[in-house]
Amino acid sequence: MELYKENQLKIYNSLSKTKEAFKPVHDGHIGMYVCGPTVYSNAHLGNVRTFMFFDVAFRYFLHLGYKVRYVRNITDAGHLENDADEGEDRIAKRARLEEIEPMEVVQRYTVDFHDVLKKYNFLPPSIEPTATGHIVEQIEMIKEIIEKGLGYEINGSVYFDVVAYNKNNHYGILSGRKIEDAIHNTRTLDGQSDKKNPQDFALWKKAGEQHIMRWPSPWSDGFPGWHLECSVMSSKYLGSQFDIHGGGMDLKFPHHECEIAQSRTCSGHDPVNYWMHTNMLLLNGQKMAKSTGNFILPDEILTGDNKVLSKAFSASVVRFFNMQANYRSILDFSSDALEASEKGYLKLMEAISSLANLSTQNSSSINISEWKQRCYAAMNDDFNTPVLISHLFEGVKFINQIKEDKASITAEDLVIFAATMNAFVFDVLGLLNDVKEQSSDKIDGVVALLIKLRKEARENKEWDLSDQIRDELLALGIQLKDGREGTTYSMS
Ligand SMILES: [Zn+2]
Repeated sequence: MELYKENQLKIYNSLSKTKEAFKPVHDGHIGMYVCGPTVYSNAHLGNVRTFMFFDVAFRYFLHLGYKVRYVRNITDAGHLENDADEGEDRIAKRARLEEIEPMEVVQRYTVDFHDVLKKYNFLPPSIEPTATGHIVEQIEMIKEIIEKGLGYEINGSVYFDVVAYNKNNHYGILSGRKIEDAIHNTRTLDGQSDKKNPQDFALWKKAGEQHIMRWPSPWSDGFPGWHLECSVMSSKYLGSQFDIHGGGMDLKFPHHECEIAQSRTCSGHDPVNYWMHTNMLLLNGQKMAKSTGNFILPDEILTGDNKVLSKAFSASVVRFFNMQANYRSILDFSSDALEASEKGYLKLMEAISSLANLSTQNSSSINISEWKQRCYAAMNDDFNTPVLISHLFEGVKFINQIKEDKASITAEDLVIFAATMNAFVFDVLGLLNDVKEQSSDKIDGVVALLIKLRKEARENKEWDLSDQIRDELLALGIQLKDGREGTTYSMS
């Protein structure tokens, strides 16, 4: 039987602001859409936090036996500065500054994004669609919104009529904004007068003469508004009503609010059953900003090449640190916090490595099935990873008690115990055991030292000592080989 049948998930829905029992649209299947990056600069650590949480949710769904279609888009056009309806396209601006093609900007930072996610052991999504790959579908959706009477064209640009929509719908239902406060940032000097209401947002923008990224449409040569791509690509790949839509909480307004308005206009119903939002990430208690120097790239954490942290940290330590906080809480990144996480992570890895060598008894003094239940209950409770981790540390305590003969476990229970620890630590949380590599580094160092001592013994014609070193290493399964380039070793 699939695990999901015996695990009732509860998800905090940002729309209802309550934890709700999760029921997928199609039994045994999950459709999940997460707003991806705008690829105009290096992957941002705050975004990595968001995607890492949804990676763990994705991993847990797979562990439970769901068939998951996980769609995470790449925004490669249409996202203007300051999330506004006016101003320059973020990608086009970077292309102009670096004197390269916009698609070179897209390629460079898409590669960087994938590279970072790979280093942090992310599973790839099922589909990763791009905005520029779906211009035709976006134009079709604009036509539909115009037909429904909620889109209007002015001077080659098309806007969504928020005030008209709000007569029969609730604009602000997700973000809690009142319609009078839901004014979209618009530069006051250019283009402002185009719109009927300051709340309206762009579906299609006519491109200025300088604008490189442009496509033909019934209204003008131009480009789609940023909010449109997600409505189009989520409905194309997941249907007009799907299970989960996620993103950082800064996307609630305007982005997700606009998505709901567009999708409801076309389908007549809510597009998403469960809206999920991750909280902010701070660095040393403050907002990250390049301008203040309080800033770090995900890559710089791994190399230690930065002025913000005391040393380098492994990707798994960063992952572990992220998962020690609830995704709906603010997370504060700092050296002290990462060092504490590193200690915990190493303790966990050490315990897991010794699981296979535990000796078993005729009876268990530990209730493994109850402990296992609690691990699942933590994840079923809106992916409560910090509580899960506290249970995993209880598992570490069990391991140490068994080692010290203060507790006993049967062979049958040990199989369940080891499988559960491994499943949550590696499959669900997505951690890797870096410690193995570190310990083989240590062996390298020790063997190199013995090879050096043996060489000195041979130079001093102390044949007994040099033979003893060789033989005792061989007894430990380490074979020395003397060659022209010096002595090397292999392990059996
Ligand atoms: Zn989006």
